[in-house]
Amino acid sequence: MPAQPRPRISVRPSSAGSGLWCDEDVASGCVVIEFDGDVRPDPARYSVQVGIDEHVHPDEDAVASRDLTRFRWRFLNHACAPSCRVEGRTLVALRDLEAGEELTFDYNATEWSMAEPFHCVCGVCGGSIVRGFAHLDAAARAVRRAWIAGHLVERINHADA
Ligand SMILES: [Zn+2]
Repeated sequence: MPAQPRPRISVRPSSAGSGLWCDEDVASGCVVIEFDGDVRPDPARYSVQVGIDEHVHPDEDAVASRDLTRFRWRFLNHACAPSCRVEGRTLVALRDLEAGEELTFDYNATEWSMAEPFHCVCGVCGGSIVRGFAHLDAAARAVRRAWIAGHLVERINHADA
């Protein structure tokens, strides 16, 4: 069976500067984009954590030259009530999305401890500091059960063992 085609997406202005938006409807559970790039053991400003010691980094030249065609996943903004979640090295729609919706995921549900914490402007949390899952209390962790990345679940289970 051929792979499902990826939806059309584009980089556009958002409340956080730039963001990634879907240009067509996306069904819940569909893969929107892959996190391609260099996998390294340490996080940085634009990396996304995809494994216990695995952080995908976009190409530095693409970032420096404001390349809008490659590594577009680096424009994905954080949201405390996200439209997508990270599964392995893919971004998956959490619900049916309509054309024109911003694609977001919850950095607190992929990053254990962030290289560059920041004040959230999502409008839902009232301005929390996004620092990574390690820094969340039990209630904040519980809220994220539906979209937490598998590697964080793995890490918590190891810690409890
Ligand atoms: Zn927030």
